[in-house]
Amino acid sequence: MCSMIKEAADALVRTGIKFSENELMSGHTSFKIGGAADVFVCPENVMQITRAVEIAKKYELPFTVIGNGSNVLVSDLGIEGMVICLERMNGFETDGCSVIAESGALLSKVAMLCARNSLTGMEFAAGIPGSVGGAVYMNAGAYGGEMKNIVKSITALHNDKIEVFLTEKCDFKYRHSIFSDGGYIILSVEFELKNGNENEIRAQMKELAMRRREKQPLEYPSAGSTFKRPEGNFAGTLIQQAGLKGYSVGGAQVSEKHAGFVINKGGATCADVLSLIEHIKAEVFRISGVALEEEVRVVGKKA
Ligand SMILES: Cc1cc2nc3c(=O)[nH]c(=O)nc-3n(C[C@H](O)[C@H](O)[C@H](O)COP(=O)(O)OP(=O)(O)OC[C@H]3O[C@@H](n4cnc5c(N)ncnc54)[C@H](O)[C@@H]3O)c2cc1C
Repeated sequence: MCSMIKEAADALVRTGIKFSENELMSGHTSFKIGGAADVFVCPENVMQITRAVEIAKKYELPFTVIGNGSNVLVSDLGIEGMVICLERMNGFETDGCSVIAESGALLSKVAMLCARNSLTGMEFAAGIPGSVGGAVYMNAGAYGGEMKNIVKSITALHNDKIEVFLTEKCDFKYRHSIFSDGGYIILSVEFELKNGNENEIRAQMKELAMRRREKQPLEYPSAGSTFKRPEGNFAGTLIQQAGLKGYSVGGAQVSEKHAGFVINKGGATCADVLSLIEHIKAEVFRISGVALEEEVRVVGKKA
């Protein structure tokens, strides 16, 4: 593996793609957790993404895509092979009621562009700290809105080909899309919005941001809701009913403010978070019979 990494790094140098070796993932995740990625690549355009993928395949390195790292829990042992981080693929523009955004663009910035152009529909997403690609992958949603309601088409790299997927072909469900089944790199997304009133759009965003600040432990690193919402219930309520508010393992804690969030209280490791998650699942199941399922994506080397 070591010699393959060295050869892949040499090949990347020749392409001019920005990359680093042994990059700590704790610096690229909202949880502030994660060991080193062997090779951490930051392509700036589609050509650089396809080159990076070619190099990964040629030197037999597994590759992992990340956007803004706000829904991932990375192993303390790091990530084997190549991490393709799309934060530098972050352009976006409007065309009438359409917005076209590269996958690494932050939802918050795209939502502000919509507000400036009096386009309504993206208010719900303004406070979700993810990238456009990560949000489509997860079918992110909040306050009654979901990505699937505003996405018109997605351009993705799939089986070495660039393909366009219309929304109806994406199997969007609660926190799921065909992209979350693996094998795709989302390159850009076209959103379809509606004409609205700028002041009303901004007021709605402000109101939702206030609700987030009141309810969520935004002062601590986390990956947002740790678990998916079980049908007819709320993960936070079930965790609270199991008496686990404030329960901790090492530096990982069930937030006192919102039991649906596992937070990094300071120095938490991936192992701490995973063992807390297992404890929560077991206790909630024992008390309520509900099997919680993780929303956060666990990536990297297995211990
Ligand atoms: C404080 C806080 C609040 C949050 N609130 C919400 C909320 O209200 N609603 C909600 O739905 N989520 C919420 N989240 C979770 C998270 O922000 C969303 O899931 C977001 O959409 C993830 O985007 P990302 O770019 O950070 O993805 P990442 O965390 O980087 O990646 C998530 C998954 O998507 C894959 N991925 C990312 N980009 C691509 C791409 N371009 N192509 C292919 N695969 C890709 C990754 O491989 C990974 O499996 C919250 C998180 C935090 C920390």
